[in-house]
Amino acid sequence: RVCMAASCQSSGAAAVLDALSQHCSGAGTCQVKSVGCMGLCSAGPLVAVAETAEDAPEPVLYRDVKPADAADILASIGGQPVTRRHCPTDQPFFARQRKIVLANSGIIDPDSFSGYVAVGGYVALVQALTEMTPAEVLNEVTASGLRGRGGGGYPTGLKWSTVAKMPRGQKFVICNADEGDPGAFMDRAVLESDPHRILEGMAIAAYAIGADKGYVYVRAEYPLAVERIQTAIRKARRAGFLGHHIAETEFSFDIEIRLGAGAFVCGEETALMASIEGQRGQPRPRPPYPAQAGLWGYPTLINNVETFANIAPILREGGAWFASIGTDKSKGTKVFALAGTIRNTGLIEVPMGTTLRDIIEVIGGGIPGGKAFKAVQTGGPSGGCLPADKLDIPVDYDSLRDLGTIMGSGGMIVMDEDSSMVDVARYFMEFCMTESCGKCVPCRAGTLQMHELLDRIAKAQGTRRDLALLEDLCDVVQATSLCGLGQTAPNPVLSTLRYFRNEYEERLMAAE
Ligand code: SF4
Repeated sequence: RVCMAASCQSSGAAAVLDALSQHCSGAGTCQVKSVGCMGLCSAGPLVAVAETAEDAPEPVLYRDVKPADAADILASIGGQPVTRRHCPTDQPFFARQRKIVLANSGIIDPDSFSGYVAVGGYVALVQALTEMTPAEVLNEVTASGLRGRGGGGYPTGLKWSTVAKMPRGQKFVICNADEGDPGAFMDRAVLESDPHRILEGMAIAAYAIGADKGYVYVRAEYPLAVERIQTAIRKARRAGFLGHHIAETEFSFDIEIRLGAGAFVCGEETALMASIEGQRGQPRPRPPYPAQAGLWGYPTLINNVETFANIAPILREGGAWFASIGTDKSKGTKVFALAGTIRNTGLIEVPMGTTLRDIIEVIGGGIPGGKAFKAVQTGGPSGGCLPADKLDIPVDYDSLRDLGTIMGSGGMIVMDEDSSMVDVARYFMEFCMTESCGKCVPCRAGTLQMHELLDRIAKAQGTRRDLALLEDLCDVVQATSLCGLGQTAPNPVLSTLRYFRNEYEERLMAAE
């Protein structure tokens, strides 16, 4: 199995796949399979070799594979692994994870319909359509305790029930794949690695709420993800799992793709719907909520990629099974994208409640180069930075919020002792300023002003009055902006002021 997700492709996986295929062609029963993300992106290209098609026993994993390694890797099958490339799978990066969303990633060929079916794909959809009423599906999702993985953490069952309760008629299901947080690549990897899982989750949702039409809104900057979801839609239609009379029932549902043109604000659900409608991607005031009046005014269910990816396993294994994983108020697992100054950059999935220390020091392998850990930024531009003395908190929606940051969609950027937290706050403010859609004054003018103040302070040209003004503006912009982008834009400033105020003081003293 050769990882052909975007990260491994960028480090030369296509040439490795070619070399293995060439050497394999004359080697009896040998078969080379293109698969999705195996997680340890920093060690790509990754290749897993199993002695049987069923991947038993545990496959041998190779890292940093070059085309020239192909012959040795194939010759080693049944014998000792090629030591120069061997990547033990009993190391904490792999052993400490628990995979539900990523269960098929790196195992199946994302372009193969039969590959997905072979690992239990579409069983949950058929089970829902033939053995369950929509209300029973809703009950199972509610019992699972699943909360929206896009950042807000809203209970999924409650959201689905609200749309289901709306009068019968036109309803829509939207998958929000407009992943735009710097350093986040969870949705991209899931779409590239296991696209049918998303389609199945969306179809189950459509059955539960009474919709017949769905959209996947995905950013155009993810060409491989777009290609794979397009292929999956085509193959699911051909196999009768999208379109009319799915699984020979009365239920019909089809999905189209809409490409985002790169505006971060289009990840906000009302802006996303405006974009699908062909209008400028700007947020609308709420209420009405999308569940009441969404796309073209019809009740609309919007969930993100990871939320839909959890649905089929919940129906297959039961809501109670899912609810037995994680913490009291945050059930299941969470996928995180580890980035920044951390040894093991990549994609991981852990039970909710795993501590930041386990994620960063054990699974992530800690900080490279003998440097000390300084902070971890969670939740992207809407999130915040946590210092070393918060590493032992369990990662769940409520613990992170209590500390002034958020789970967000799962981006986790680790910073070492060389990082300046004032510069980090300035970077995220510049991001929000650039991405502000300009519709409301507090965000349009406020982010610009806050960036100017941060810039002055970062350059050691600021005054104490500038810092006081910055703190005032944080309150105003947070309280009066129209949408989440503006409301959360001050978060990186507030969290760095809370935990790293000394760094602001140092810059002010340097200016005095
Ligand atoms: Fe646009 Fe910012 Fe206002 Fe949101 S808060 S509507 S992004 S200007």
